[in-house]
Amino acid sequence: MSLEGKVAIVTGASRGIGAAIVKKLAAEGATVVAVARSVESCEGAAMCQKVDVSDSSQVDACVKAVIEKFGRVDILVNNAGVTKDGLLMRMSDSDWDQVININLRGTFLFTRAVSRPMMKNKGADGAQLGGSIVNIASVVGITGNAGQANYTASKGGVIALTKTVAKELGSRNVRCNAVAPGFIVSAMTDKLPDDIKKQYAATIPLGRFGTVEDIANCVAWLASDDSAYVTGQVISVNGGMV
Ligand code: NAP
Repeated sequence: MSLEGKVAIVTGASRGIGAAIVKKLAAEGATVVAVARSVESCEGAAMCQKVDVSDSSQVDACVKAVIEKFGRVDILVNNAGVTKDGLLMRMSDSDWDQVININLRGTFLFTRAVSRPMMKNKGADGAQLGGSIVNIASVVGITGNAGQANYTASKGGVIALTKTVAKELGSRNVRCNAVAPGFIVSAMTDKLPDDIKKQYAATIPLGRFGTVEDIANCVAWLASDDSAYVTGQVISVNGGMV
């Protein structure tokens, strides 16, 4: 697998899974742009961009800046995501809106912004090079989860969007797939009490939470030409949990 010569944008790159994806794509040879609301530096990144993914003018300006600097965009990883958990009956409008706006609207905005430049990517021989979009969904976007109406709806939406984008852009060789992580050791799961973490781990056939590298490795494969005939798929990386 080599990403030599490819330009990648990774959202939610300031820490956790996103930072690991930046490192992995860069190690495979890609020029990587790291995006988050607050990101000063990021290991492996050629450029950092402070962007709120839910704001369409910031997203469009970011993609424009990447094209101006690097001339192209071949890979987009929509990884930025947040949780605001609570039971449905008590969930506020703003907790619903914030999670949907960042996780789902943000994925739509970045996908829309890169779709035209990706469709225009052509090789020296005129071959349609297209691009690869990888969306970070979640196991709970497939199964549902009590206390996460906003988050599960956003991730279920990301999965449906992935399949639609694959159908709309496939003829131009722009692929779109999703990775659905299970429980990954990160700031998001650090919030869980220890006894809950133990209970969850006991339900995972591989007996452990995943690492950020487990996710980054799968993303790098989907971003690369090694997965050239894979599109519209949701790859579960969850230790066999579901
Ligand atoms: P994390 O450590 O909380 O990092 C989230 C990243 O998203 C940060 O870089 C954050 O940076 C960025 N972000 C948040 N809101 C943003 C916004 N409006 N605009 C731009 N960037 C924004 O989360 P993680 O655990 O690495 O999760 C990464 C992705 O994996 C998420 O989509 C999450 O839903 C998914 N996931 C995680 C797990 C898990 O177990 N950890 C499981 C399944 C799925 P700023 O705050 O600086 O903006």
